Amino acid sequence: MDYLFNPPAPASVPVVGESRQFPVQRIYCVGRNYEEHAKEMGFTGREPPFFFLKPANTLVVVPEGATGSMPYPSQTANLHHEIELVVAIGKGGKNIAAANAAQHIFGYAVGLDMTRRDLQNEMKKLGRPWCIGKAFDHSAPIGPIVPVAQAGDIEHAEISLQVNGTDRQRSNVAKLIWNIAETIEHLSAAWELQAGDLIFSGTPEGVSAVVQGDVLVGQIAGLPDLKLRIG
Ligand code: MN
Repeated sequence: MDYLFNPPAPASVPVVGESRQFPVQRIYCVGRNYEEHAKEMGFTGREPPFFFLKPANTLVVVPEGATGSMPYPSQTANLHHEIELVVAIGKGGKNIAAANAAQHIFGYAVGLDMTRRDLQNEMKKLGRPWCIGKAFDHSAPIGPIVPVAQAGDIEHAEISLQVNGTDRQRSNVAKLIWNIAETIEHLSAAWELQAGDLIFSGTPEGVSAVVQGDVLVGQIAGLPDLKLRIG
């Protein structure tokens, strides 16, 4: 195939205990999937899950043990962290029942759904798409993927985020409003999932702003920490 210019290599994420990379297709994100976070954003109750996307090239891939770097983005004065469990899809499918969801999961990683909250809030007010608040360059830092068999009891794992050594977010994956299997059921009813898709499953309460120079450490029990400096 002849291209007009060189296509970039596919985005990919390292896999713990494996020399081959996980090639990334789409990045789906679930909105308001922990009750206390929904409340802090001004919502209550269980609503059907809703989704937005980030381009695969928004990933900031941080190898195990390294400190990644994310440039402070343009046009915002309110860059928020959202620590999230990321589900890596290894086998595609559509209309996947929750009971069968597990066989489609390759593994898990720690991710950050970085958000230009001021821009997102403006778009919400105007009823416009969230892209500018959510899907900007470098908005999806992620650590290595741990295959399911090595990830332990991820459905009951503690999830937390520290900024400069101080706790900002702390919860448990068990508090997801729509658990991983239910999320896959809903998502695969709207899109045919593909191997290589990532799902950022939502953030617990405690989202807040970071500034240039801050060091973030995201932790989910059973997965390598995600360490990131805002440059
Ligand atoms: Mn999020």
